[in-house]
Amino acid sequence: MRVFLMAGLALTTACMLATAASASETQTENQKVTNQTEPDIDSLIRRANYAEAMRDVAERQKVFDDTPTRFSMAGNFSQGGLVFGATEPGAMVKLNGEDVMVGDDGRFVFGFGRDSAPSALIVVTLADGVVERHAIEIEDREFPVQRIDGLDQSKVSGFTEIQLVKIAKDSKKKKAARLDTQSLADWAGGFDWPVTGRISGVFGSQRILNGEPKRPHSGVDVAATTGTPVRAPASGIVTLAEGDMYFEGGLILLDHGHWLESAFLHMSRIDVVPGQRIEKGDIIGAVGATGRVTGPHLHWSMKWAGMLVDPQLTVVPMSQVQENSGN
Ligand SMILES: [Zn+2]
Repeated sequence: MRVFLMAGLALTTACMLATAASASETQTENQKVTNQTEPDIDSLIRRANYAEAMRDVAERQKVFDDTPTRFSMAGNFSQGGLVFGATEPGAMVKLNGEDVMVGDDGRFVFGFGRDSAPSALIVVTLADGVVERHAIEIEDREFPVQRIDGLDQSKVSGFTEIQLVKIAKDSKKKKAARLDTQSLADWAGGFDWPVTGRISGVFGSQRILNGEPKRPHSGVDVAATTGTPVRAPASGIVTLAEGDMYFEGGLILLDHGHWLESAFLHMSRIDVVPGQRIEKGDIIGAVGATGRVTGPHLHWSMKWAGMLVDPQLTVVPMSQVQENSGN
């Protein structure tokens, strides 16, 4: 029962994250946390029933599980993971009934949220009408709790009218930047760390900011001194470059194609403009301590189709990078 209940909570949260992702990311933060921490008994029962129903669906999906012969997938099959696929040109791909963008060359990418259900169904319809179905098992992850104190309280809660207007304006800009994606598979060249250094925050951790429970951490934090160059982890098109967002401070959004996007926060310097094409490894700006921070670091987050995924799963472990560079 406990397992079902947890899965139900996970699914509900995943839906909430997906809905909230393209709209305001911060406005309703307080409200959401309240809903999550104090669910009433009816909603718990509803979630448990939903989880059981989803489990039944997953069982039935197994009946249709084929060994894929005309598509392949590689990547991270766990919560927050990204999966990179390849099939034949002209194929259609659906993940849990939703269309996944397929490039002219048959490449596709999709991801799983932090609170993803334990299984998903991928259906590939080839140009000649042949259909292949495959049930994917998604590994559960444990996420730590992270307490951060000493943040400027005006960046945590109790926002003034003027601050709320600024937050809403920022939110609108992000939403506008995320209306479209490019069809080029810039993600296919793989990802490198945008900066190297000590990892000071991980994806998905339950955050308590100045004593207040907040939404899970949306990306990975790398501590580095102000002015350290930030390099594009993969090629892409800049969709937003703003120096003064309320929470994010200096913010760059980079579209890697197929609805996969990187965000770089708290930057002290921004060297790119919206619409600009960036190659993997190009310097796009510099680390800073702008927005909601206690010190200089780069926050790197990633979204696939509006849903947060874990950038750390796309790159080699930081320890390997630092060993290689002789640090
Ligand atoms: Zn962060």
